[in-house]
Amino acid sequence: MTHLLHRSIQSDLPVAARGEGVFIYDRDGKVYLDASGGAAVSSLGHGHPDVLKALHAQLDTIAYAHTGFFTTEVAEKLADRLIEDAPEGLDKVYLVSGGSEAMEAALKMARQYFVETGQPGRRHVIARRQSYHGNTLGALAAGGNALRRTQFSPLLIETHHIAPCYAYRHQHEGESLENYGARAAGELEDKILELGEDQVMAFVAEPVVGATSGAVPPAPGYFRKIREICDRYGVLLILDEVMCGMGRTGTLHACEQEGISPDLLVIAKGLGGGYQPIGAVLLSGRIFEAFEQGSGFFQHGHTYMGHPMAAAAGLAVQDIIRRDNLLANVMAMGAHLTDCLAQRFGQDPRVGDIRGRGLFQAIELVENKETKAPFDPAFKIHARIKREAMQRGLMVYPMGGTIDGREGDHVLIAPPFIATKTDIETIVDRLGAAVDAAT
Ligand code: PLP
Repeated sequence: MTHLLHRSIQSDLPVAARGEGVFIYDRDGKVYLDASGGAAVSSLGHGHPDVLKALHAQLDTIAYAHTGFFTTEVAEKLADRLIEDAPEGLDKVYLVSGGSEAMEAALKMARQYFVETGQPGRRHVIARRQSYHGNTLGALAAGGNALRRTQFSPLLIETHHIAPCYAYRHQHEGESLENYGARAAGELEDKILELGEDQVMAFVAEPVVGATSGAVPPAPGYFRKIREICDRYGVLLILDEVMCGMGRTGTLHACEQEGISPDLLVIAKGLGGGYQPIGAVLLSGRIFEAFEQGSGFFQHGHTYMGHPMAAAAGLAVQDIIRRDNLLANVMAMGAHLTDCLAQRFGQDPRVGDIRGRGLFQAIELVENKETKAPFDPAFKIHARIKREAMQRGLMVYPMGGTIDGREGDHVLIAPPFIATKTDIETIVDRLGAAVDAAT
């Protein structure tokens, strides 16, 4: 009997006792290759000695100082560091405890920006149907994932959703990827005009979609068109890089590969690599100036914002990624993962799509490859694969299909940036065996 309320009431979880590199060891000594970083969190793997050293050093100086009274050197250093490497135009950092908190803050920043600049009518948020932006009420309202939202819908602010950019499911036959991307982005303009062009405050999207659909990259040019539409109608662009950011796709920020900058960039997971809970919003100078010249403060805050221990973890993880040139390894091991997945699953009748970028890739499972019909949701193929993989000492991140039954289950693979060729091959071997056993 446990007094701890777990995510799943019925689950019988192994007890994680120790982590080292890409491996987690349970209390009984079983070894798991962490091929998903939990949910794309563990960018550096487990027990990295240099992160532990930085955390101990921080603990020896100061563990907590309330941000209403003090700033700390470590939080200032992390902010400097994040801005040094930020997409163009972003020049302030707001540090919080995780992805949902960061998304809440970004939504409030967008709203306050319009209040401060004399456009209080702007209140609508547009996102995409196939999306997840966090579990707190504001972030949950922005996301379009029906499974996670439905029972809480009376508590959620009204938001609006357009189609995702999901070529495998929505590109028309004979349509080029570029034309498909332009068509998908065009839905944003239609929605803005429908709601009233001076009523919309923000569009929220993940550059490479994570949890709801498994490493779905955008069509070429999609985000450039989105950026143009936002600019045309004065709508703020919030990019959610909680999962796909901080190096996971091979560049520090996934939006770099789209050639655009957002007005607000939301990051978390890989920022601290799981060593401490941390998330952040990077905001543009224009938004900061509106606060500075207006009320003089951002009307928001949390007890643990700018936490020194979390900042120390973030700074250490980011220093090591830079020092050890790990983004090059993400690119190289990402290419190897693509090859191994293609070899193992390319002809597999149960795998409809293989996709992703860097060390952020997925397979989408289908019952019929020709029609792309997904497995019956009641079969819960994603849960079967997870169980079979764990039995084989492999952590991957499978999810059920979520939009109105037309999407397949998928398995997300997001190993630490330190993964080797052998790790990648072991991941794909064990995943293949798990898929065989599950079907
Ligand atoms: N946004 C995205 C894209 C996510 O994948 C997640 C978490 O999975 C969140 C936001 C919420 O982050 P957190 O769980 O740290 O609150």
